[in-house]
Amino acid sequence: MREILQRCLALSQQAGEQSGAAQRATLAQLAALLAEAMPADSATAGECAILQLDLIGYITGWNDGARQLFGYSAQQMQGQHVLLLYPDDEGDSGVDELVSQADGSFGAATEVLRRTSDGELIWVKLEQRLHYDAAGEAVGMEVHVRKLDEVLSATDKLTLHARIIEDSDQGVLITDAHERIVSINSAFTRITGYTQEESLGKTPDLLRSGVHDAEFRARVRAAMHGAGVWRGEIIGRRKNGELFPQSVTISAVRDAHGRISHTFSLFSDISVHKDAEARMQRMANYDALTGLPNLCLLSQLLGQALTEARRTQQHGALLMIDISRLGAISDTLGHEVSNAVLCEIGQRFRHALREADVLARLDGHKFGIALLHIEKREHAAIVAQKLLATLDEPIVIDQQALQLSGHAGITVYPEDGIELPTLIRHAEVALNKAIRSIEAGLLFYSEEMNQRAKEHMRIEGELRQALLNGELMLYYQPKVSLRNGRIVGAEALLRWRHPVRGLVSPGVFIPVAEETGLILDLGSWVLEEACRQVRAWQDAQLIMPPIAVNLSARQFDSQLPARIAAVLERHQVQPEQINLEITESLLVRGAESVIAIMNQLRAMGMGLALDDFGTGYSSLAYLKKFPISTLKIDRSFVIGLPNEESDCAIARAIVTMAKQLRQEIVAEGVETPEQMQFLRDLGCDQLQGYLFSQPVPASEFAAMLRDGKRLALGARLPPD
Ligand code: C2E
Ligand code: MG
Ligand code: MG
Repeated sequence: MREILQRCLALSQQAGEQSGAAQRATLAQLAALLAEAMPADSATAGECAILQLDLIGYITGWNDGARQLFGYSAQQMQGQHVLLLYPDDEGDSGVDELVSQADGSFGAATEVLRRTSDGELIWVKLEQRLHYDAAGEAVGMEVHVRKLDEVLSATDKLTLHARIIEDSDQGVLITDAHERIVSINSAFTRITGYTQEESLGKTPDLLRSGVHDAEFRARVRAAMHGAGVWRGEIIGRRKNGELFPQSVTISAVRDAHGRISHTFSLFSDISVHKDAEARMQRMANYDALTGLPNLCLLSQLLGQALTEARRTQQHGALLMIDISRLGAISDTLGHEVSNAVLCEIGQRFRHALREADVLARLDGHKFGIALLHIEKREHAAIVAQKLLATLDEPIVIDQQALQLSGHAGITVYPEDGIELPTLIRHAEVALNKAIRSIEAGLLFYSEEMNQRAKEHMRIEGELRQALLNGELMLYYQPKVSLRNGRIVGAEALLRWRHPVRGLVSPGVFIPVAEETGLILDLGSWVLEEACRQVRAWQDAQLIMPPIAVNLSARQFDSQLPARIAAVLERHQVQPEQINLEITESLLVRGAESVIAIMNQLRAMGMGLALDDFGTGYSSLAYLKKFPISTLKIDRSFVIGLPNEESDCAIARAIVTMAKQLRQEIVAEGVETPEQMQFLRDLGCDQLQGYLFSQPVPASEFAAMLRDGKRLALGARLPPD
């Protein structure tokens, strides 16, 4: 109260020194303060219960306020002991205390529980003083009783609020109109690490983490500037540099003129909740045993990929793999062993997959794999096969070697469906079919794909045998000069003499070999065989033009030059005798390492030809980067010559370009004299095609060389 009065006094003095609007404003502030102070005092005074007691606690006086508060009339209470008003468990020691603490004036108030006439317990505030007789002897006592919730004075309120703020678990930060910190509580220091001395006078930027964008900060500032209460989460920075999430309420306080005098923020450190949230998030999305994603996360990721695939028409697949015999292992060796097996399988699968593939553990013995980008649908079967193959090696748990196996169900999108539930159902259908079937380890959902996969696997198996059984051979197709009609080279083309199916086209088995990696073995065999043949021909005194060998992009690694050098060395063949044909897919990979390998091969003395030119994505500018000596125009552009307008334009552009790059040009698949004439007029260097010869066995090619077979250029010219 005294404080309020002092402030009133100061305001009235201030008003006396002012005039006009400023004075009116100060007076308004004064009026507000008085209004705040007055009702509290007058109201409580009227309601105050006053009890008169003798020194041992008997009631000698009971006013109307006491009647209203306790519900007993003065008549009822005269002569009663004050203990009647005490709760049951409080002894009469309270009375002695009352007396002993009292003196002639009302001193510090005490807050106690008392009982009313209808048994209700109420918190009251007591103030007492002693009465004295003329001789100065204490003769009795006057006790003022106020119900507690009615007796908070403005000052009490202020103290109480200050106390609450101080003791609060929430950090409190109060700034003035200039955004300087004017008050903080101890929770602020506990949470942020900054003491009063370190924070007062600074701005709240003291806690700025720097992670929020300008728009977010503008919203917070708007609240500080009075745009209304703002509640939200802010990342703050503690004194030790650590970032922490806080749940914050920010509000502005206005003075009597409506100007913002202060802002306050209340905040709590919610890092603990955030950790818990992250843990819950983990539990919701990951399998507790293996730590792999669960069905929920797999579905989320696949769902996103499907949304994208609808737009891009990209292929993807969902695989489900069920591990057999796990139930039996669990029954006989215990749950822990089967759990350890599942963890090991999870690791093997993860290891075998690419990073972008999603591996999840579904319920029980099932794993789910989402291949979000595959080039061809068949690739899904290769991945499934690779995963099942990881089970071939026994899993050793507690020195026991356990042999496991599995089945896989595969569904591909968008062909089998583009909705998540459909795909999951289809993968399950395929898996259940695979489990029931006796022979199939893996099955596609679509029958057509199963046929293709079967064929694929049959070819792969047989091709492995073919390598061992010597069913492979090389045919040679001559390249002839368009200047003189002479044989100036030949391309070695792989042939497979299948014992039952006869001659199998490389168009059938090369793609399978590429996908399975078998191409590496095939490629080595081709190189070896071509060099052996060249050596044999040279030994037979044949004058040999260079022989071109096709290389798969998969063969193209940093060891390739060394491998080729070793083969050349073994057969005593000069590098100039061998050309290498590569495809555009290798260039698209485009890395510097590819160029480095090419340079090495060129430095060894070998020619490099770019095969099937025009079917890929190479541009002229792009092509310049690569040390290519020969361009082979793809057969698909030769077919339309000389009648197809666009083919003519393409052929013309390719030849012009190759000439600029000083590359030799070979036209592939030339079948007619008209095609030859057109290409010759364009300035093409060589042709390769049925017009001169199909690919033929080595002996036939040697005969052509020996006989000096030539393309009759002039004779085949069409009449003008
Ligand atoms: P390629 O390297 O572009 O070979 C040219 C293909 O065109 C050969 O088919 C050849 O027989 C065919 N051809 C040549 N002249 C004509 C013609 O006038 N008309 C028609 N219709 N076709 C003609 P082939 O031998 O079936 O080989 C197909 C593809 O298989 C080759 O295309 C090549 O990409 C691949 N290939 C063949 N042998 C090997 C090999 O040893 N290693 C690798 N990596 N791939 C090979
Ligand atoms: Mg070729
Ligand atoms: Mg070609």
